[in-house]
Amino acid sequence: MWSDWIYPETDICFACGEVVEGLGRARFCPSCRSKLSPVGEICCQRCGKPIADGELCDWCRKFERGFSQAFAPYRYEGLARELILRLKYKNQPELARAMAGEMARFFEERKEERMIELIVPVPIHRSRYRERGYNQAGLLAHALGKRWGIPVAEDWLTRKEATRALKELTAAERKQSLRHAFQLDERFEPTRTISRILLIDDVLTTGATAESCSSEFLNWKTEEIKVLTFATRG
Ligand SMILES: [Zn+2]
Ligand SMILES: [Zn+2]
Repeated sequence: MWSDWIYPETDICFACGEVVEGLGRARFCPSCRSKLSPVGEICCQRCGKPIADGELCDWCRKFERGFSQAFAPYRYEGLARELILRLKYKNQPELARAMAGEMARFFEERKEERMIELIVPVPIHRSRYRERGYNQAGLLAHALGKRWGIPVAEDWLTRKEATRALKELTAAERKQSLRHAFQLDERFEPTRTISRILLIDDVLTTGATAESCSSEFLNWKTEEIKVLTFATRG
């Protein structure tokens, strides 16, 4: 781009490509930022989804979850949804850096990154990886790992089968279809207890994916699993 040598790379908005002088590490211009809907302070203390009031959402009140807490800065709508779709389906892996920056700031504000020992991205199936050329959750995980100096374990978990169109399934069907969808590689079994693992994905839908991944780790020496995504479906 012609502007590359006039403006520093960091002054280009990752979402719309506009050059905004002084944008720096903010990554998104004010206009794009206004199209991102933060989850806000009133959210479920377990899964991080926006709720009207109280501590837990209906789902978390009724059921145990494999992870102790999930976090997401934005609701899965508007520009947040668009960015995820572009990252996944429009071959725009460069968006991951800016999106990870938003996730990192949100997590750091809560001082949550301090206890994390290992970062694990939710894997995609091999066939999908071949098609896409990258795992979007892996890109987000590596950006976060680099920022915090925390190791990223990308090969530990594998997705056994290509789960089909989850969005067409009900929450219960989704949970069933994801049971045993992931497998931990026994070669990596840690010799000591890992106090806290952070699972990374682009979006938290029902939480069934995160739960299925978490349950694989619970048989290992793991004290706690937290989840961080860019967006969450309300
Ligand atoms: Zn913009
Ligand atoms: Zn909840």
